Amino acid sequence: MTHRPDTQAVHAGREDFVSLGVHASPIDLSSTYPVPDLDEGVASIDALAAGDATAANPIYARLYNPTVARYESALASLEGVDAAIAFASGMAAVTAILMAAKIKCPDKSNVVAVRPLYGGTDHLLASGLTGWDMKWATPETVSELVDEQTALVWVETPANPTLQLVDIAAVCKAAGDVAVVVDNTFATPILQNPAKLGASMVLHSGTKYLGGHGDVLSGLVACNEDWAAPIRQVRILTGAVLHPLGAFLLHRAMPTLPLRVRKAQENAIELVEFLDKHAAVSEVFYPGHGDNDPTGLVGTQMAGPGGILAFEVGSYKVAARVLAKVKVFTSAVSLGATDSLIQHPAGLTHRIVSEEARKGAGITDGLMRISVGIEDVADLIDDLSQALS
Ligand SMILES: *Cc1c(COP(=O)(O)O)cnc(C)c1O
Repeated sequence: MTHRPDTQAVHAGREDFVSLGVHASPIDLSSTYPVPDLDEGVASIDALAAGDATAANPIYARLYNPTVARYESALASLEGVDAAIAFASGMAAVTAILMAAKIKCPDKSNVVAVRPLYGGTDHLLASGLTGWDMKWATPETVSELVDEQTALVWVETPANPTLQLVDIAAVCKAAGDVAVVVDNTFATPILQNPAKLGASMVLHSGTKYLGGHGDVLSGLVACNEDWAAPIRQVRILTGAVLHPLGAFLLHRAMPTLPLRVRKAQENAIELVEFLDKHAAVSEVFYPGHGDNDPTGLVGTQMAGPGGILAFEVGSYKVAARVLAKVKVFTSAVSLGATDSLIQHPAGLTHRIVSEEARKGAGITDGLMRISVGIEDVADLIDDLSQALS
């Protein structure tokens, strides 16, 4: 029986706990596993190397780890797909998708991607290192740019850092038979489930809301078995596995994911109202705010606007002064932790993106991005108020 998301967040991936006689996720730190039965070992290696999720014998920790597998099954159930594959970071997950597409689509040559994207993703795609020809699109030009050589369509919504929304169902329709990857890091599975709208792969930097406490680097791809198998094959080959301690922390954070996301969102809505009226702020970017969501995706595609916002203070100098003055907020990159973070995208997270791409995506020198935490919002408003004065 499929439970509601808040119940799934508490219970998913814990199905074997009673039979194991435990109440917390057991951490298996073995790097290798005994192989007393060689026939079973051979069959297990064959199965895991072909991309199977499990085998009779795990053989070696780069091939399989039970602590990681428990968290993977939990995330898959939250996203409503067959499987999830965990990586050492979000960028390792991005890389694995791009390599798995070489296995799945050996005769294709290009990837269509909608900007803006996370700075690292943009930089990797633009670098040519992955061997794909790039076609940069807007949501409107996806259908023109997709051709018989296209292996993947890549989108991020809400996008980093301008919170631009992309209509996932419309992009999936425009992509036709081509697999669509949606980076769901900002929304989390609590606010948005791209696979239910037609996406083939849902990407998460687990470093953000899924970890939720700023203490674990990780990446996840949630998808059905047709893509899960080649992605596991890539993980075995490249070795960018998630450490079981990281998987334990992610699993431990999962029951509170809905609470953290909703509290951050509540705070963000109040901060947007405060910033909107502030004389030093010329524009606020937030899903559903102003003319940011013309097609009404907040409330339909997304259950709510989320906990990330951006705003314009006019110049690099003013932004730098705000960062130097905040006391409750921490001036730092990353997002999705329990504490509020503020940063300057043009100077930090999107520094490695070409200036042209930055300008095209609206990432100005006066743009600041906030990841709202779960503090008392009155203290956040007081802090921003003194920093902006
Ligand atoms: C952080 C982030 C990534 C990359 O994840 P890492 O865990 O830092 O490697 C990818 N996409 C988005 C939207 C992100 O915020």
